Amino acid sequence: LFVVLEGGEGAGKTTQLGLLEQWLSQSGHRVVRTREPGGTEVGERIRALVLDHGQGEVDPRTEALLFAASRAAHVSQKIRPALNAGAVVLCDRYIDSSLAYQGAGRGLGVDDVAQVNEWATEGLEPDLTVVLDVDPVVSAQRRAARDGGAAGDRIESADVAFHTALREAFLDRATAAPDRYLVLDGTAAVESIHQAVRDQIEPMLGR
Ligand code: C5P
Ligand code: MG
Repeated sequence: LFVVLEGGEGAGKTTQLGLLEQWLSQSGHRVVRTREPGGTEVGERIRALVLDHGQGEVDPRTEALLFAASRAAHVSQKIRPALNAGAVVLCDRYIDSSLAYQGAGRGLGVDDVAQVNEWATEGLEPDLTVVLDVDPVVSAQRRAARDGGAAGDRIESADVAFHTALREAFLDRATAAPDRYLVLDGTAAVESIHQAVRDQIEPMLGR
């Protein structure tokens, strides 16, 4: 079973993944928790390469291709082997983040970025994508509180218009394939979000 958490920065993906991992492990499932960009040695190096630069130093196409390359390694070296071994794979971000950030946010076009990523992943799609939906203004406040300012963020993080485009891209994807998505209000209580995700996943276990 392949489950992905998506949403903008400060949406609560990491918190929810921690709770999910704990619940699944305690229920006796083998869990592989991972993240993008990153997840493999090459992927983490690509992550550092792109994210350690300020905005503008890496042009959008280069960024899209590097993240797709990171994802290709991630799928072939980690995600597919884990799924084949019967593990539940929990991933912090996947293709939809590229569609949102590079496709919508950086203007490359969602369809083109989707094509590159379909090739990179040999068409591997999550069984379920949970979108933690948060108003861009609220998420900016959360990030500021978490990071003690904009320090940990890229410059565009301050840009509400950019984050509005991301949000719309995530929601468009969910609307196009409602049976593979669960959209939740990311401002709801942590425990109630967790319960909603559990309710969705429980009948899918064993796949
Ligand atoms: O949420 P996480 O800390 O994993 O994301 C790290 C950063 O990577 C985010 O701030 C986001 O701006 C960036 N990112 C991106 N394009 C992606 C995925 C993440 O620009 N496809
Ligand atoms: Mg996170």
